Amino acid sequence: MLVTVEGIVIGKRDIGENNCFLDVLTDKYGVIEATAHGVKKVNSKNASSVGLFSYSKFCFNKTNLHYSVNSAEPKCSFFGLSSDLKKFSLAVYFADIIKYTSAAEQSGEDILRFFAITLYKLEKENADCEIIKGAFEFRIAAMLGFPPDLRACRGCGRYLNGDMLFSLEKNNLICEECLEESEEDEELKALLPDLLHTMRFVLYSPSEKVYGFTLKGETREEFSFLAEDYLLSQLGRSFKTLEYYKNLST
Ligand SMILES: [Zn+2]
Repeated sequence: MLVTVEGIVIGKRDIGENNCFLDVLTDKYGVIEATAHGVKKVNSKNASSVGLFSYSKFCFNKTNLHYSVNSAEPKCSFFGLSSDLKKFSLAVYFADIIKYTSAAEQSGEDILRFFAITLYKLEKENADCEIIKGAFEFRIAAMLGFPPDLRACRGCGRYLNGDMLFSLEKNNLICEECLEESEEDEELKALLPDLLHTMRFVLYSPSEKVYGFTLKGETREEFSFLAEDYLLSQLGRSFKTLEYYKNLST
């Protein structure tokens, strides 16, 4: 059966001289593994469409749950990423998160759209990698079904009330006033007002606006630290590709 989908190549492994396995994040079927034949031949018509981070329209032969590329037509290549090792490594880490968390044969439309927006922003010349990384980590955590609840204080329901603290155990907010009455002993992190505002923006804005902010100094550092810590603790693991990216940044 032939199926047509849109997707971004998020992994690629060579098999022999001319063939490869692809992991493709697709709109209709989530992340699938597909074989691609003859892609290394100089004139292969599919070659530019199956490169890492190519965003293409794919036509697959589907037999049971096995896919092979019949044809592919590029929509966008994000080619600029490959000339910047730091940006490229960050994109590889993002791809790893998606590979680890996605279920096959389920719609991946929202994540595909968000990943395309992310690569587009990351490719831009003045991209701030740390901001993009933190925003991606918070937003993907929410998309994967474990969003922090930053809507209001869990005690009094107020949007803002003095210093707001984030519960690292309950993943929600409590204000100073309610904390005084609370008898619970839990790990809390005080959020700078700018930091809370930014986290809310990243979580509750439409996906095309998620990267539309800048941060400086301490707030930027805290945002970056908290985002990574939050995502990894929710997933219960880290990634070698993250360590690789961080080694490049130091
Ligand atoms: Zn309160």
